[in-house]
Amino acid sequence: MSPSFHELQLRPALVKVAGELGYERPTRIQTLAIPPLLAGRDVIGKSKTGSGKTAAFVLPMLQGLDLERRELQALVLCPTRELAAQVRGEVRTLGRGLPGLVTAELVGGQPARGQRESLARGVHVAVGTPGRIMDLLGTGSMEPSTLRILVLDEADRMLDMGFGPDVARVVRSLPADRQTALFSATLPEEIEAISQAYQLDPVRVSAASRDAPGPAIEQWKVFTPPNERFGALAHVLAGTPHASAIVFCNYKASVLEVTQRLQSADVSADRLDGGLDQFHRDQVLSRFRAGSVRILVATDVAGRGIDVEGLDLVVNYELPQQPEVYVHRIGRTGRADASGVAISLAVGPADARVAGVEELTGAPIMEHPMGAPKGPTAGLLRALAGPPPMRSILISGGRKDKVRPGDIVGALTGDAGGLAGGDIGKIEVQDRLSYVAVRHHLASLAADRINAGRIKRKRFRATLVGR
Ligand code: ADP
Ligand code: MG
Repeated sequence: MSPSFHELQLRPALVKVAGELGYERPTRIQTLAIPPLLAGRDVIGKSKTGSGKTAAFVLPMLQGLDLERRELQALVLCPTRELAAQVRGEVRTLGRGLPGLVTAELVGGQPARGQRESLARGVHVAVGTPGRIMDLLGTGSMEPSTLRILVLDEADRMLDMGFGPDVARVVRSLPADRQTALFSATLPEEIEAISQAYQLDPVRVSAASRDAPGPAIEQWKVFTPPNERFGALAHVLAGTPHASAIVFCNYKASVLEVTQRLQSADVSADRLDGGLDQFHRDQVLSRFRAGSVRILVATDVAGRGIDVEGLDLVVNYELPQQPEVYVHRIGRTGRADASGVAISLAVGPADARVAGVEELTGAPIMEHPMGAPKGPTAGLLRALAGPPPMRSILISGGRKDKVRPGDIVGALTGDAGGLAGGDIGKIEVQDRLSYVAVRHHLASLAADRINAGRIKRKRFRATLVGR
């Protein structure tokens, strides 16, 4: 039996929040990494996606903060903006029992001004992407001298995405007597080199998949000739029960084609690829998390770092060249205690990419019993057609306009003719805008109510997004 969070010597304020979040016990990587991090050691940690690496570094980091001093003490570098947002969210959530904790998200794709202002006011923890942090350090907006803890999260992804030089520049400007933690799902040679360069006598911890308490993922393959791939996808989607699915492609062109074919058959699907601007990427992800789109078709770069709860199916429309990418992709299904299904379309029994994955994971991937598609693709698509359960509404106000989730619920449910609480789904309030999901057939009504009414005595514009 693994120890409890309390037995790992975490402060009661942190143990309490972990309990409230339903974290009954530390995961394996948490059990291994938290004690050396609390002791101030450098740590290099490896475990698969979904095994709880975030809390493994966030909890000891929070314990080490001196909240009385409003100055930068900890910095987390992440490969993508989405991941930075998630990690910062986890810092805030796990730190909600620590009064006065101030955090900042420092990422590209948005003006640096607000980020500079929050740094000037003082933050304890900053989470961001290497490029933007490098800029903020370069312009003197970020004062590194008080920093004591550095975390490189998803270090392998950071290198894959070409952030190596930016990371190096950031690290060079940080105090040398800091603590450095490095987390990664894989430890290729380049990561070892980074560890050598940036860490001092690191403690190595690794939770091998066999003893990780992680979820079970059913893995299958379905054979298809390349020119019948789309039919095979329709067959897989129609034959596998799922509320939400991600379909991974290797190319943006495949993403566009698959999305377009699904949408024109009236299947609830949308795309997530490098061709979308940040606003639309955020919007698609928000809709997907809210149940306003059922199938997300994504490339690896765009899909990296997505944490979607309750994702029950991952399809590899095209298998990646590198087996490590496969492991990342399917790690998104079956998070925490739910189990998930991963199905890969393979060209045939001799597909070298299947062999590569089997070699890496040490387990064979079985052929799915459903076999090859029997009927025409159009028939399969008809079975999948129909609206998603929810529809998202974009509201033109957010946190900075003092809009809170409760205000949105109030505007939708208040007085006669309003929605019932049960008609309202996920609400995401961002800085200057918000998303609320409501039952699909009530979406126009809900948008009308917001457009006609007021929130905090102000008028906001509500727009239906997606379909
Ligand atoms: P990783 O970074 O290893 O991919 P995450 O930190 O994103 O994994 O965690 C995956 C999921 O597991 C998250 O939804 C997180 O809230 C949950 N989780 C983390 N620690 C625990 C725990 N001790 N018990 C249960 N769930 C946990
Ligand atoms: Mg992670």
